Amino acid sequence: MKKIIISILVSLFMCGPAFGWGREGHETVAKIAENHLKPSVKKKIEKYLGGHSIVYVAKWMDDYRHTPEYKFTTNWHTAPVNEALEYQDSLLNPKKGNAVYGLEQAIDALENYKELSDSAVAVNIKYIVHLVGDMHCPAHVKYTTHNMKYDVYMPKSKTPLYVHSAWDYAIIQMCRICSSTEWAEELDNIDRKAAKAIVAGSPRDWMHDSAVRCEVQFDLAKPDQKLDQDFLNAAMPLIETQILYAGYRLAAVLNSLF
Ligand SMILES: [Zn+2]
Repeated sequence: MKKIIISILVSLFMCGPAFGWGREGHETVAKIAENHLKPSVKKKIEKYLGGHSIVYVAKWMDDYRHTPEYKFTTNWHTAPVNEALEYQDSLLNPKKGNAVYGLEQAIDALENYKELSDSAVAVNIKYIVHLVGDMHCPAHVKYTTHNMKYDVYMPKSKTPLYVHSAWDYAIIQMCRICSSTEWAEELDNIDRKAAKAIVAGSPRDWMHDSAVRCEVQFDLAKPDQKLDQDFLNAAMPLIETQILYAGYRLAAVLNSLF
Protein backbone atom coordinates (compact mmCIF):
# COMPACT_ATOMS: atom_id res chain seq x y z
CA MET A 1 0.00 0.00 0.00
CA LYS A 2 2.79 2.36 1.01
CA LYS A 3 4.56 1.58 -2.27
CA ILE A 4 1.42 2.37 -4.28
CA ILE A 5 0.97 5.71 -2.53
CA ILE A 6 4.63 6.60 -3.08
CA SER A 7 4.44 5.72 -6.77
CA ILE A 8 1.26 7.80 -7.18
CA LEU A 9 2.98 10.72 -5.47
CA VAL A 10 6.08 10.33 -7.64
CA SER A 11 4.02 10.23 -10.83
CA LEU A 12 2.02 13.28 -9.75
CA PHE A 13 5.25 15.09 -9.03
CA MET A 14 6.69 14.18 -12.42
CA CYS A 15 3.68 14.73 -14.64
CA GLY A 16 1.64 17.23 -12.66
CA PRO A 17 0.39 20.50 -14.07
CA ALA A 18 2.85 23.15 -15.16
CA PHE A 19 3.35 25.60 -12.33
CA GLY A 20 5.89 27.94 -13.92
CA TRP A 21 8.89 29.17 -12.03
CA GLY A 22 8.92 27.89 -8.50
CA ARG A 23 8.61 30.33 -5.63
CA GLU A 24 12.25 31.39 -6.00
CA GLY A 25 11.88 32.39 -9.65
CA HIS A 26 8.56 34.21 -9.36
CA GLU A 27 9.53 36.12 -6.24
CA THR A 28 12.89 37.17 -7.68
CA VAL A 29 11.24 38.42 -10.89
CA ALA A 30 8.86 40.47 -8.73
CA LYS A 31 11.67 41.73 -6.49
CA ILE A 32 13.66 43.00 -9.48
CA ALA A 33 10.50 44.65 -10.82
CA GLU A 34 9.78 46.21 -7.43
CA ASN A 35 13.25 47.82 -7.46
CA HIS A 36 12.27 49.63 -10.66
CA LEU A 37 8.72 50.72 -9.86
CA LYS A 38 8.19 54.44 -9.62
CA PRO A 39 7.56 55.22 -5.91
CA SER A 40 4.04 56.49 -6.67
CA VAL A 41 3.22 53.32 -8.64
CA LYS A 42 4.54 51.07 -5.85
CA LYS A 43 2.40 52.92 -3.33
CA LYS A 44 -0.77 52.66 -5.45
CA ILE A 45 -0.25 48.96 -6.19
CA GLU A 46 0.39 48.09 -2.54
CA LYS A 47 -2.80 49.88 -1.57
CA TYR A 48 -4.77 47.61 -3.92
CA LEU A 49 -2.90 44.54 -2.63
CA GLY A 50 -4.01 45.25 0.93
CA GLY A 51 -0.60 46.56 1.98
CA HIS A 52 1.32 43.68 0.40
CA SER A 53 4.12 43.95 -2.14
CA ILE A 54 4.16 42.45 -5.63
CA VAL A 55 6.75 39.97 -4.30
CA TYR A 56 4.22 38.69 -1.77
CA VAL A 57 1.62 37.92 -4.46
CA ALA A 58 4.01 36.68 -7.16
CA LYS A 59 3.02 33.02 -6.85
CA TRP A 60 -0.66 33.65 -6.09
CA MET A 61 -1.87 32.41 -9.51
CA ASP A 62 -0.24 29.02 -8.89
CA ASP A 63 -1.81 28.77 -5.45
CA TYR A 64 -5.35 29.53 -6.65
CA ARG A 65 -5.56 27.91 -10.08
CA HIS A 66 -7.14 24.77 -8.63
CA THR A 67 -10.04 26.65 -6.98
CA PRO A 68 -13.48 26.77 -8.64
CA GLU A 69 -13.24 30.56 -8.83
CA TYR A 70 -9.95 30.60 -10.75
CA LYS A 71 -10.11 27.30 -12.59
CA PHE A 72 -10.53 29.25 -15.83
CA THR A 73 -6.93 30.46 -15.46
CA THR A 74 -5.41 26.99 -15.21
CA ASN A 75 -3.98 27.05 -18.77
CA TRP A 76 -2.79 30.63 -18.59
CA HIS A 77 0.68 29.71 -17.33
CA THR A 78 2.23 28.75 -20.67
CA ALA A 79 2.04 30.20 -24.17
CA PRO A 80 2.57 28.58 -27.56
CA VAL A 81 4.86 29.80 -30.33
CA ASN A 82 4.83 28.80 -34.01
CA GLU A 83 7.75 27.65 -36.18
CA ALA A 84 8.91 31.28 -36.45
CA LEU A 85 8.96 31.27 -32.62
CA GLU A 86 6.19 33.85 -32.53
CA TYR A 87 2.95 33.96 -30.61
CA GLN A 88 -0.07 34.60 -32.83
CA ASP A 89 -3.84 34.77 -32.27
CA SER A 90 -4.29 31.66 -34.42
CA LEU A 91 -2.53 29.66 -31.67
CA LEU A 92 -5.07 30.69 -29.05
CA ASN A 93 -7.59 28.15 -27.82
CA PRO A 94 -10.24 30.62 -26.59
CA LYS A 95 -11.70 28.11 -24.13
CA LYS A 96 -8.34 27.61 -22.42
CA GLY A 97 -6.41 30.87 -22.89
CA ASN A 98 -2.64 31.13 -22.38
CA ALA A 99 -0.07 33.40 -20.71
CA VAL A 100 -0.01 36.05 -23.44
CA TYR A 101 -3.80 36.07 -23.67
CA GLY A 102 -4.16 36.40 -19.88
CA LEU A 103 -1.51 39.10 -19.71
CA GLU A 104 -3.03 41.16 -22.54
CA GLN A 105 -6.48 40.89 -20.98
CA ALA A 106 -5.18 42.06 -17.60
CA ILE A 107 -3.30 44.98 -19.17
CA ASP A 108 -6.45 45.97 -21.10
CA ALA A 109 -8.52 45.82 -17.92
CA LEU A 110 -6.07 47.94 -15.92
CA GLU A 111 -5.84 50.62 -18.59
CA ASN A 112 -9.06 51.90 -17.01
CA TYR A 113 -8.30 50.75 -13.47
CA LYS A 114 -10.11 53.67 -11.87
CA GLU A 115 -13.39 52.30 -13.24
CA LEU A 116 -12.83 48.84 -11.71
CA SER A 117 -13.61 47.61 -8.22
CA ASP A 118 -10.61 47.43 -5.87
CA SER A 119 -10.73 43.63 -5.91
CA ALA A 120 -10.75 43.54 -9.74
CA VAL A 121 -7.70 45.82 -9.81
CA ALA A 122 -5.94 43.58 -7.28
CA VAL A 123 -6.57 40.36 -9.19
CA ASN A 124 -5.41 41.85 -12.48
CA ILE A 125 -2.20 43.08 -10.82
CA LYS A 126 -1.64 39.51 -9.58
CA TYR A 127 -2.18 38.14 -13.11
CA ILE A 128 0.36 40.55 -14.59
CA VAL A 129 3.00 39.92 -11.90
CA HIS A 130 2.75 36.16 -12.40
CA LEU A 131 2.29 35.90 -16.15
CA VAL A 132 5.21 38.13 -17.14
CA GLY A 133 7.26 35.72 -15.01
CA ASP A 134 5.81 32.56 -16.53
CA MET A 135 6.31 33.64 -20.14
CA HIS A 136 10.04 33.94 -19.40
CA CYS A 137 10.35 30.44 -17.93
CA PRO A 138 12.03 28.20 -20.55
CA ALA A 139 9.61 25.33 -19.91
CA HIS A 140 6.61 27.65 -20.30
CA VAL A 141 7.33 28.59 -23.87
CA LYS A 142 5.33 25.90 -25.66
CA TYR A 143 7.25 25.12 -28.83
CA THR A 144 5.02 23.56 -31.46
CA THR A 145 8.23 22.40 -33.20
CA HIS A 146 9.79 20.49 -30.26
CA ASN A 147 8.85 17.57 -28.07
CA MET A 148 8.72 18.97 -24.54
CA LYS A 149 7.39 15.94 -22.71
CA TYR A 150 10.35 13.92 -21.54
CA ASP A 151 12.36 13.12 -18.43
CA VAL A 152 15.96 13.89 -17.55
CA TYR A 153 18.20 12.98 -14.61
CA MET A 154 19.50 15.84 -12.54
CA PRO A 155 23.19 15.62 -11.51
CA LYS A 156 23.79 12.91 -8.88
CA SER A 157 20.16 11.75 -9.12
CA LYS A 158 18.94 8.33 -10.19
CA THR A 159 15.29 9.41 -10.25
CA PRO A 160 13.84 10.57 -13.56
CA LEU A 161 12.52 14.12 -13.44
CA TYR A 162 10.09 15.70 -15.89
CA VAL A 163 12.28 18.14 -17.84
CA HIS A 164 9.67 20.84 -17.21
CA SER A 165 10.31 20.58 -13.46
CA ALA A 166 14.05 20.88 -14.04
CA TRP A 167 13.59 24.30 -15.61
CA ASP A 168 10.83 25.39 -13.20
CA TYR A 169 12.75 24.87 -9.97
CA ALA A 170 15.22 21.93 -9.79
CA ILE A 171 18.15 23.72 -11.48
CA ILE A 172 17.60 26.82 -9.34
CA GLN A 173 17.36 24.80 -6.14
CA MET A 174 20.61 22.98 -6.94
CA CYS A 175 22.54 26.15 -7.76
CA ARG A 176 21.27 28.97 -5.54
CA ILE A 177 20.46 29.32 -1.86
CA CYS A 178 19.87 33.08 -1.83
CA SER A 179 16.63 34.69 -0.75
CA SER A 180 14.72 36.41 -3.54
CA THR A 181 16.00 39.76 -2.24
CA GLU A 182 19.62 38.63 -2.38
CA TRP A 183 19.25 36.96 -5.75
CA ALA A 184 17.54 40.05 -7.19
CA GLU A 185 20.42 42.17 -5.92
CA GLU A 186 22.99 39.90 -7.58
CA LEU A 187 21.21 39.94 -10.94
CA ASP A 188 20.01 43.53 -11.09
CA ASN A 189 23.24 45.19 -12.16
CA ILE A 190 22.82 46.42 -15.73
CA ASP A 191 23.06 49.97 -17.01
CA ARG A 192 20.17 52.16 -18.12
CA LYS A 193 20.82 51.72 -21.83
CA ALA A 194 20.70 47.93 -21.57
CA ALA A 195 17.57 48.13 -19.43
CA LYS A 196 15.87 50.31 -22.02
CA ALA A 197 16.61 47.78 -24.76
CA ILE A 198 15.19 44.93 -22.66
CA VAL A 199 11.81 46.61 -22.14
CA ALA A 200 11.38 47.77 -25.75
CA GLY A 201 8.44 46.22 -27.60
CA SER A 202 5.22 44.52 -26.55
CA PRO A 203 4.49 41.34 -24.56
CA ARG A 204 4.30 39.49 -27.90
CA ASP A 205 7.80 40.70 -28.78
CA TRP A 206 8.99 39.56 -25.35
CA MET A 207 7.42 36.16 -25.93
CA HIS A 208 9.35 35.86 -29.21
CA ASP A 209 12.55 36.99 -27.51
CA SER A 210 12.03 34.36 -24.78
CA ALA A 211 11.33 31.65 -27.35
CA VAL A 212 14.49 32.47 -29.33
CA ARG A 213 16.75 32.58 -26.27
CA CYS A 214 15.24 29.51 -24.58
CA GLU A 215 15.30 27.20 -27.61
CA VAL A 216 18.79 26.13 -26.51
CA GLN A 217 17.07 24.13 -23.72
CA PHE A 218 16.57 21.27 -26.21
CA ASP A 219 20.32 21.06 -26.82
CA LEU A 220 21.14 21.40 -23.14
CA ALA A 221 18.78 18.71 -21.83
CA LYS A 222 17.79 15.86 -24.14
CA PRO A 223 15.35 13.01 -23.40
CA ASP A 224 16.65 10.69 -20.67
CA GLN A 225 19.94 12.57 -20.50
CA LYS A 226 21.97 12.29 -17.31
CA LEU A 227 22.72 15.93 -16.65
CA ASP A 228 25.96 17.09 -15.08
CA GLN A 229 27.69 20.18 -13.74
CA ASP A 230 28.39 21.43 -17.28
CA PHE A 231 24.63 21.43 -17.84
CA LEU A 232 24.02 23.46 -14.67
CA ASN A 233 26.78 25.88 -15.67
CA ALA A 234 25.03 26.49 -19.00
CA ALA A 235 21.46 26.46 -17.66
CA MET A 236 21.89 28.97 -14.85
CA PRO A 237 22.96 31.95 -17.03
CA LEU A 238 19.92 31.30 -19.25
CA ILE A 239 17.60 31.17 -16.23
CA GLU A 240 19.15 34.25 -14.67
CA THR A 241 18.88 36.24 -17.90
CA GLN A 242 15.23 35.26 -18.21
CA ILE A 243 14.50 36.26 -14.61
CA LEU A 244 16.27 39.60 -15.03
CA TYR A 245 14.46 40.40 -18.28
CA ALA A 246 11.11 39.41 -16.78
CA GLY A 247 11.72 41.72 -13.82
CA TYR A 248 12.49 44.73 -15.98
CA ARG A 249 9.57 44.05 -18.29
CA LEU A 250 7.17 43.59 -15.38
CA ALA A 251 8.23 46.95 -13.94
CA ALA A 252 7.71 48.56 -17.36
CA VAL A 253 4.16 47.20 -17.65
CA LEU A 254 3.18 48.31 -14.15
CA ASN A 255 4.80 51.75 -14.48
CA SER A 256 2.89 52.32 -17.72
CA LEU A 257 -0.47 51.39 -16.16
CA PHE A 258 -0.51 53.26 -12.82
ZN1 LIG B 1 2.43 29.82 -13.21
